[in-house]
Amino acid sequence: MMNENLYPDPLNKLIKTIARLPGIGKRTAERLALSLHEWQEEDLKFFGEQLIGLKANVKSCSICGNFSDSDKCKICTDSQRDQTIICVVENAAQIAIIEKSGSYQGLYHVLGGRLSPMNNIGPENLNLSNFKERCLKASELILATSPDFEGEATASFLSQELSDYNLEITRIAQGIPVGADLSFADSASMAMAINSRRTL
Ligand SMILES: [Zn+2]
Repeated sequence: MMNENLYPDPLNKLIKTIARLPGIGKRTAERLALSLHEWQEEDLKFFGEQLIGLKANVKSCSICGNFSDSDKCKICTDSQRDQTIICVVENAAQIAIIEKSGSYQGLYHVLGGRLSPMNNIGPENLNLSNFKERCLKASELILATSPDFEGEATASFLSQELSDYNLEITRIAQGIPVGADLSFADSASMAMAINSRRTL
């Protein structure tokens, strides 16, 4: 247990902030905060600048929603990629996992979430403004939403919306444990899931 009287307030505040990061408990946060306090002033300033500029410097690609430092991301502007296949993911972090798996050469579309009636998240809350327009130019769509209830509901909603399109719609398969959060899937599982996708 962290004793709040052990440290001055600024250090306690830093520990509390670090503990908000995923997978970081109070004790690890305490250790990291103390470690940061040993850094040189200029290194801390550099770290602080990176944090302050994070939102402004890392934006969303205007086409697919991937992380990008300019209007269009590196994947959308890469002419070597297969422009006829689009992989739909829930968040931009999943793109890095699929890319690391080396099993995919097409484009992406980031939904920015998934359908969740319980949390009042409907289709209007997802990044779908240019989605159908993109699908018109594609020949295959891979639905790589999570294999849990909301992820499946999102996948079936999208496939119904596109049922009139001349598009092969596939769903990622084995390799991803049921109920898993795809943001933390490993690349090997993701490669298997993409390679063994099935037609919906
Ligand atoms: Zn993009």
